[in-house]
Amino acid sequence: MTEPLLQVENLSKFYPVKSGNLFGSRVMRAVDSVSFNLRRGETIAVVGESGCGKSTTARMVSGLLAPTAGSIRVNGKNIAGVKGREAFALRRQVQMVFQDPMASLNARMKVGAILEEPLIIHGHGNRAARRQRVEELMGLVGLRKEHLDRYPHQFSGGQRQRIGIARALAVEPELLVLDEPVSALDVSVQAQIINLLKDLQSKLGLSYVFIAHDLAVVKHMADHVAVMYLGRIIEQGPKAQIFDTPRHPYTQMLFSAVPQIGLGRANPDRAVKGEMPSPVNPPSGCHFHPRCAYSTDACRTTRPELADFGAQQAACIRADEIPAYATTQSAPGYKEAAAQRMKIYHEMIGSRQQAEA
Ligand code: ADP
Ligand code: MG
Repeated sequence: MTEPLLQVENLSKFYPVKSGNLFGSRVMRAVDSVSFNLRRGETIAVVGESGCGKSTTARMVSGLLAPTAGSIRVNGKNIAGVKGREAFALRRQVQMVFQDPMASLNARMKVGAILEEPLIIHGHGNRAARRQRVEELMGLVGLRKEHLDRYPHQFSGGQRQRIGIARALAVEPELLVLDEPVSALDVSVQAQIINLLKDLQSKLGLSYVFIAHDLAVVKHMADHVAVMYLGRIIEQGPKAQIFDTPRHPYTQMLFSAVPQIGLGRANPDRAVKGEMPSPVNPPSGCHFHPRCAYSTDACRTTRPELADFGAQQAACIRADEIPAYATTQSAPGYKEAAAQRMKIYHEMIGSRQQAEA
């Protein structure tokens, strides 16, 4: 087996928080010991409700934010651990595409200058060579080179995101970290950008860390899916398994409302019941236990670690007992799983009523 292109291990970002009392500061665990691998040419989608730590993870993997702990290996080299010239060279391999192209492109620079800037920074050729590369980049993302003298505001939202993608590709990275790259765009434009990203991936052999909110888009883009909850990955694995047979109750909840592409957008914030607790003061044991239909006393005290279930991994101490199938009716074994789920649920309600009586 060849080494993965990207190996993220125990990556964490903690922020000090003023607690407002005399006992000093507390810590907000925005990202808490996240690990995943990505092979060359593949896409891992990172999903979860807003505030779960997706952008913080993205910014660390792109080298824009220093981790509190953990390693980020690209081709075996830890980019979190190196400094100076070597860091500079390593970071060229990983580039980021942001959610809002208007905010991430300098409004006062012409597109030609925006695309040339990373080439200058990384010492790419002379002026003529850079100009040629900039024109090539415009073609690569489906824009006309006649438009190089325009400013960002003279383009549509979709075209601006094409410029954001071209800028990220300028220095020929191997890995793109895309933080909700289509969330700010009209639905009709989203598909064009998604298709462009898929084309570029196969043409250039790129790997993607694809941060997403929209599960219909994830279904289209991803090879692997990692689900985050309050700073931790609670389930990950190949896309088909995660969509068809999610093991973790949170993933089951999140994915039970996935619409088909074309029938509307999935919004995890609406699919999941209950409030998301604060990462400053997360629930004990399994962070998800207050919202979980299957939680027991042990879930309140035990921090669940990721455990293997075939090709997928889930961090739930009851994952063995909980039926693996999602609530999509087309999934194999749907009826049996639904019946099994109802049985467990009724047993639980029964024991809770007994406990309260
Ligand atoms: P997501 O992208 O999944 O919505 P983020 O990674 O942006 O989540 O944020 C994760 C958590 O970290 C949130 O609770 C957010 O408020 C907090 N956070 C992000 N950046 C900072 C910061 N610079 N200082 C303090 N807390 C932060
Ligand atoms: Mg975000």
